[in-house]
Amino acid sequence: MHRARKRFGQNFLQDAGVIYSIVALINPSADAHVIEIGPGLGALTRPLLSNLDHLDLLEIDRDLVAYWNQQNLAGLRVIEGDALNFDFLAWAKRCPKNGSLCKVVGNLPYNISSPLLFHLVAAARVIDEQVFMLQAEVVERMVAPAGSSDFSRLSVMLQARYHMEQILEVPPEAFDPQPKVNSAVVRMIPRADFNLTDAQWASLEKVVAAAFSQRRKMLRTNLQAFAEKLVLSENELKSRAQDISVDRYIEWAKAIAK
Ligand code: SAM
Repeated sequence: MHRARKRFGQNFLQDAGVIYSIVALINPSADAHVIEIGPGLGALTRPLLSNLDHLDLLEIDRDLVAYWNQQNLAGLRVIEGDALNFDFLAWAKRCPKNGSLCKVVGNLPYNISSPLLFHLVAAARVIDEQVFMLQAEVVERMVAPAGSSDFSRLSVMLQARYHMEQILEVPPEAFDPQPKVNSAVVRMIPRADFNLTDAQWASLEKVVAAAFSQRRKMLRTNLQAFAEKLVLSENELKSRAQDISVDRYIEWAKAIAK
C-alpha cells in the first residue's frame, strides 16, 4: 500500500461526488489529447481513461510510476518527471490537429502550484484548456478582479494570458490525508486575443512585479524606475497596484518594451 508523501504534496481524492464532478468538467471527447499531472493512485485517472482513447500521465514519485507501469492499461502512457521541468510545448506537438482538444489536467501538488502555472504559460499557445484543483486561496487570487484585495501579481499575469473560472470548492474531507486548507477547481482557457511578444511579456512581468512590490505604496513610488517610458495620469500615480486593470498593465508592458 502506498503511503502518502508530504514532500510531493500527496493528498489523494476520495470523494466520489467530487471526482465525478471534476471528470464531468474535463469532459474529454474520446480523441482528446490529455495529460494528467500527478495521477497519484488514480482517483481521476481511471474515470478519465474510461472516456479516452489515450491518456498521458506525468508523475514525479517513482513508486507511483512503477505502480502505473504495472497496471499495463491500454491507452495509458506513463512519463516519470517533474512537471516544473517538463516540456509541455514539445508534448503538445503530438496533439492532433483535427479539432480535438489538447488539455492539461490535475489535482496539483499545492507546494508547486504557482511556479507550475507560470511554467505552463510557455505552452499556452498550443494548449486548449487546463483544469486544475488548487488551494482555494490561490484560485481566489487567480480570478480576483482589479480593485479587490485578492488582486495580485498572480491575477494580472494569469488573467493576461487566460480566461479563468472558479468552478467548484472542495473541502479537506474530500481527501486522504486531509490538507489543512480548502481547495477549488479552476478552468483556464488561453485567451485568443493574446498578442504579446516574448519581450512584451518579459516587460509585463517586470512592471507588475514592481507595481506590487510594496502593495500599500502609490504607483508613483513603485514605478519610479519606469518613469521615462510610462505616461501615467495623475490618478494612476496616486493609485495602488491593485486598482489598475489587466488591460492597462498590458498597455504599459507594450510601452516599456518599445
Ligand atoms: N491525482 C491524485 C488524486 O487526485 O488523488 C493525486 C493528487 S496529489 C494532490 C498530487 C500528485 O502530484 C501526487 O501523485 C504527487 O506524487 C504528484 N507530484 C508532486 N510533485 C510533482 C511534480 N513536481 N511533478 C509531477 N508530479 C508531481
